[in-house]
Amino acid sequence: MQEIIKKLKASDKAFKTWKNVDFKARQALLSNVSRLLMENQTPYAKLITKEMNKPISQALAEIEKSAGMATYYASIENVLKTQKVATGLAISEVHFEPLGVILGVMPWNYPFWQVLRFALPTVLAGNTVVLKHASICEKSGDAIQKLFKDAGFPKGVFTHLKISHQEVQELIADPRLKAVSLTGSEAAGRAIAKTAGENLKKCVLELGGSDPFIVLDDANIKKAAKDAASSRLQNGGQTCVAGKRFIIHQKVYDRFVEQFLIEYKKYQSHDPQNLETVLSGMAREDLALGLMRQYKTALKHGAKILRPLKKEGPTGFQPGLLEVSGDNPITKEELFGPLGLVFKAKNDKEALAIANDSPFGLASAIYTKDKKRGQFFTLGLEVGSVALNQIFRSNWQMPFGGRKNSGYGVELSEATLHEFTARKSVIGSM
Ligand code: NAP
Repeated sequence: MQEIIKKLKASDKAFKTWKNVDFKARQALLSNVSRLLMENQTPYAKLITKEMNKPISQALAEIEKSAGMATYYASIENVLKTQKVATGLAISEVHFEPLGVILGVMPWNYPFWQVLRFALPTVLAGNTVVLKHASICEKSGDAIQKLFKDAGFPKGVFTHLKISHQEVQELIADPRLKAVSLTGSEAAGRAIAKTAGENLKKCVLELGGSDPFIVLDDANIKKAAKDAASSRLQNGGQTCVAGKRFIIHQKVYDRFVEQFLIEYKKYQSHDPQNLETVLSGMAREDLALGLMRQYKTALKHGAKILRPLKKEGPTGFQPGLLEVSGDNPITKEELFGPLGLVFKAKNDKEALAIANDSPFGLASAIYTKDKKRGQFFTLGLEVGSVALNQIFRSNWQMPFGGRKNSGYGVELSEATLHEFTARKSVIGSM
């Protein structure tokens, strides 16, 4: 822990200077981050694939998306400028001040994107960052630390710590650490929120999801089925905002399932370093075993096999599809791998009820040509994001976050700059 405290102190020291650096000067460094990401796109992508096994084409896309986000934050207006308020007093203004050292605890599924999604706006707001990356992605963590250094950030503004769960808890309790952001599972969210709560520290939690993907009887079935397979199986099925529960109107159920299976078959597991590969093995063997356990539990509770989940080697699968109803306990769990659940709904009202019958509330997708029906779901879904007739994909210009057990707090867009800043109200006269 001694070494960690030394780095925490250095980060706290760096904050005292960094917080006074002009917003535009901070943005210039973010432009460098964007440029360096693209210059090193291939080696970074190879590293991602080596560490967590995703197909290289998807790792390349992850780096490109991260660079786009860096450019966005490098060019936004300063939303943290002092705001004057017309109260009638000579002075009445709101200042936005960075908090200090912020801890990011990050997952392995998008090893660059998730870290940068948290870290770039956090340092732009004038904070410094310490990172605990997923254990299997420590080399990515090192590479990101070097990226910040090469982009010109002063020492201590971004520090990668290789620490255990217990050390994360101790760090949160340290008075020099001001807040924490976790992207990860519900279990990790509960553990981190508990310690943050005990120490009265703010936290942002971006947790798991079991997103509904709703197809109504007037939808373009071919497109919906193609998108459904792509949404479920991107990143080896290990995406928080993947469609995981496919809720299909009974009138088009058979047609959709037939088409869904045709699309599903296109996803065969291959070497992740091959540019043509669209599906590779999962990130860790224990995760693959966990998915197989969930599959067996689902079957025990009456799920019907539409396509069996078949193990191929230690982490690979032939993707599976199950038909289920709401009373199967599996429908309340997140399936973080290549296994989808399909529900049949009698009508729109029942489809919405199934969609909301979940402990999670992250994103969603609805396929219909009817504006009114689209609106019914947009208003009724208890989620953070809705996509109409397309796969949900986060967009750096739009706020992103979950509801219910998917967490709380906002990432992306200008809104996230307020997550780790304090408002200071100043009134009176001089
Ligand atoms: P995870 O097991 O919860 O791990 C996430 C991070 O938390 C890792 O760095 C992990 O470290 C650390 N961690 C886990 N338990 C901890 C504890 N008790 N105390 C301190 N640190 C702890 O999640 P994952 O398997 O990496 O990622 C998959 C999960 O993340 C899924 O549920 C997915 O839906 C969710 N996710 C959510 C979003 C979103 O934006 N909402 C985005 C991506 C992923 P170790 O690696 O050392 O265990």
